[in-house]
Amino acid sequence: MDRYAVFGHPISHSQSPFIHGLFAEQTEQALSYERILAPLDDFRGSLTCFWRQGGKGCNVTVPFKTEAFEMADELTERARLAGAVNTLQLLPDGRVLGDNTDGAGLVSDLKRLGVELAGKRILLLGAGGAARGALSPLLAEQPAEILVANRTRTKAEQLGEQFAHLGQIQGCDFGEITGSFDVIINSTSASLQGEMPAIPASACRSDTQVYDMMYGKEETVFLAWARSLGVQSRFDGLGMLVGQAAESFYLWRGVLPRVTPVLSALRAKMELPST
Ligand code: NDP
Repeated sequence: MDRYAVFGHPISHSQSPFIHGLFAEQTEQALSYERILAPLDDFRGSLTCFWRQGGKGCNVTVPFKTEAFEMADELTERARLAGAVNTLQLLPDGRVLGDNTDGAGLVSDLKRLGVELAGKRILLLGAGGAARGALSPLLAEQPAEILVANRTRTKAEQLGEQFAHLGQIQGCDFGEITGSFDVIINSTSASLQGEMPAIPASACRSDTQVYDMMYGKEETVFLAWARSLGVQSRFDGLGMLVGQAAESFYLWRGVLPRVTPVLSALRAKMELPST
């Protein structure tokens, strides 16, 4: 049976074994998928041991995505642009391929939810790893413009410059946001601290579609803010989690599983309301 895993620290909260277990069942693939708690100072050792013991591929989560990027022998273009790797695959010649499926997972979830991106004005809040991973798949959808706004302005400006060759994109800080947007995506971790990025309410119209990459039992501060402004289309990031897993599964197994039934099962397991 082919062996897969997710590496992280901490890792006990990870839903990836549940998701990949359902994907395997759905697509009738014989595989195992486990959580591996890698030591903070020895991700490399833990990963090497996994390959030696017959591992075929793995997901990588916080805090090892940059290390995984550095360790990969070969990178997909989207991983290279993201500067981070969430999926590794052992190639037949023994080399290791690094991919980043987070952005593709986000875009596939936005499509599933009926959020149009082509020709739209998009505000992306945050300029961390999740934002970097999202930018090339988002720009591939040919939006009219992406404005990346971040608390630390220089990071947003750097992203604006790095991705300028792929489309209309600029970076700024929250105070410099002007006009309203068709789509607002929150990729900051502000909700983790119960905080709302300091963006003007004028950025949001009642027909703006808003998406928070975070998910959890409670409504995030960002989604509550949008609700208070009368926004109808508000979505959490659980579908992105399942979407990125589906893209990893596709890389490893060559078959793309259906996301919707797995997402419903996950929402039920986590006792989250359906969107
Ligand atoms: P990083 O630590 O790389 O980046 C964090 C970002 O949040 C930075 O831009 C930071 O700004 C900003 N930020 C943090 N606190 C605040 C605050 N109080 N106010 C405003 N901005 C703030 O994290 P990631 O990019 O990896 O992850 C970001 C979020 O996305 C997390 O909540 C994570 O759970 C979620 N995520 C969800 C996924 C999914 O599958 N649904 C996948 C990946 C991530 P600054 O630069 O100024 O520090």
